[in-house]
Amino acid sequence: MGVIQNYGKLLPVTEKTPRITLGEGNTPLVYIENISKMLEIELYGKLEGCNPSGSFKDRGMVMAFAKALEDGAKAFVCASTGNTSASAAAYAASVGKPCFVLLPAGKVALGKLAQALMYGAKVIAVKGNFDRALELAREAAEKEGFAIVNSVNPYRLWGQRSGAWEVCDVLGQAPDWHAVPVGNAGNISAYWAGYKQYKEIGKTDKLPRMMGFQAEGAAPLVTGKPCPSPETLATAIRIGSPVSAHLAKAAVEESEGEFNSVTDEEILAAQKLLSSKGGIFAEPASCAPLAGLVKLKKLGKLPKGIKVVMVLTGNGLKDPDTAMSQAGSPVEIGDTLEELLEVMKG
Ligand SMILES: *Cc1c(COP(=O)(O)O)cnc(C)c1O
Repeated sequence: MGVIQNYGKLLPVTEKTPRITLGEGNTPLVYIENISKMLEIELYGKLEGCNPSGSFKDRGMVMAFAKALEDGAKAFVCASTGNTSASAAAYAASVGKPCFVLLPAGKVALGKLAQALMYGAKVIAVKGNFDRALELAREAAEKEGFAIVNSVNPYRLWGQRSGAWEVCDVLGQAPDWHAVPVGNAGNISAYWAGYKQYKEIGKTDKLPRMMGFQAEGAAPLVTGKPCPSPETLATAIRIGSPVSAHLAKAAVEESEGEFNSVTDEEILAAQKLLSSKGGIFAEPASCAPLAGLVKLKKLGKLPKGIKVVMVLTGNGLKDPDTAMSQAGSPVEIGDTLEELLEVMKG
């Protein structure tokens, strides 16, 4: 069924942990033929947009909620660039508990905001960036005794390891490269921990190089210093001081991977490429890895024939505004067959 049902033996769950699920995990790992040929590699996309709330956040959220409920949590709080709030709000609704979500005002994609509101969370827009919203959420959680379900919550990263286990279960072992967008840096850290755990128990005999991709305007792990005013249209990775920076750096060092940055233009081009040549519609942040692979190919730094898994972290439907800004518009006609045939000729 879900992450706890499928991988409970590898997770810190006890008999008392409630077996909650919204059917998260077990997402498709799709071979992307056209783009593989173009880049001369074997490229797979892990379709995390197929999770119940439309992003990978559900993998960790189910664990964070289960453990907090086990400890008797009465209410939940998080700060979010959008997907964490959508996910937290969904699980809170399903277990019948209140949820407060703090968002940077005006910087959250429309679909994500609609989700948090529809699931019934108390949505609070903070006049500040994500990093400030997180500070506030942490302080409020401490004062009020609420469970904080941001990735500072260690159970989030535990649940997110399941992505790595699924990749290995499908491919038979880890890929050569694992490419992932990096915002708060929890996901790259969780995947690395997941791959290592699988190697220890003999489920993969190799480990991938961890390749993290950030947006140029929010690239603290590439520049090596915090970014006080992060800017990128990929709002899910618009983060200046990643909470899990230390874990992510260790993952990249240990795996002989790299951090790279890509511009917003490169991200948009990759989003278009993935949808129009791959048939996969992912949100802008999710396309940073593909933008990075395209860039590395141009620089001659993408080895031929390697097996690459990229995590397509969130569904493209979450951010219709950014998509429409570059998608063009429908061709309008009257209601006659002649007009229709005319436009079909092109
Ligand atoms: C949260 C998120 C990210 C960034 O993941 P981190 O664990 O914060 O590095 C990337 N893409 C999407 C769609 C997200 O929701």
